[in-house]
Amino acid sequence: MSENTAPLPDFTRWPSFPFEGDMRVKKLAPPVEVEPPRSGEDASDCVACGTPDDAYIWVSERWRVRSMDRPTGLPMVLILECRSHLDLGDLPNLLAAELGVMTVRLERAVRSLDGVARVHVNRWGDGSAHLHMWFLARPYGRLQLRGTFLTLWDDILPVIPEHQWSENLAHVAAWLADFGGRAIAEPAHIQWESPATFTVPTFATTTPEADDSQRPKTLDDVQAASAAADSDVRVTGPHDIAEPGRPLNFPESGPEAGPGSAATTTAAAVDPAHNQSA
Ligand SMILES: [Zn+2]
Repeated sequence: MSENTAPLPDFTRWPSFPFEGDMRVKKLAPPVEVEPPRSGEDASDCVACGTPDDAYIWVSERWRVRSMDRPTGLPMVLILECRSHLDLGDLPNLLAAELGVMTVRLERAVRSLDGVARVHVNRWGDGSAHLHMWFLARPYGRLQLRGTFLTLWDDILPVIPEHQWSENLAHVAAWLADFGGRAIAEPAHIQWESPATFTVPTFATTTPEADDSQRPKTLDDVQAASAAADSDVRVTGPHDIAEPGRPLNFPESGPEAGPGSAATTTAAAVDPAHNQSA
């Protein structure tokens, strides 16, 4: 039977399904005999293991939390990693127990952000070998984003303002640091708008401004960019970025640099360090 005639599954009619119009089910590729290795299968070339702490938003003796390298469509997208080069099923009891604690703690931290209704916690593990748990925040009131397709919506929504994203990262980092470890992400600085006026960034989560020129900027975009930049890195999972350590917060930052000074022109526009003469 042709794949074109296969009935569409029920979920295509769910309110949360992001697409409409004519669709058909893809032809299923035949299974491979032997699956290819994931990125960083060997610790010696694992990106996560080779990434320094200052690329993360918070670190501790055994755990680290990082963000995407750019604002996301969702209010927050974070990844929790253990320091040890292990996958989920390999964790010894100590780390397994701590994973539970860290999962609860990080969920609560992200849910404490203004405008966040729910936090989805996911582990796919098809792309990179080093354990990485995804934490994706669903914006409050956006009932259409509930459930299965939240990761797809992240790429569809306009990205949140960069200053708000930085504030959110700093808030989560500070929350985690209250329990231990060290916050790397810092609060954004005051935004100088003119010599006479200024506003203090707030956590207010508003409907993201439409900014299609900035899209896409999130999970799948990172996948695509990574795959294009390095054909050795395989992207085998729909939600697994190929290089867990690469899409970093502050790729060129020094030790004193925070998210407000992330190396982007947008950050420079809101960073008083770049606008003192304005
Ligand atoms: Zn590793």
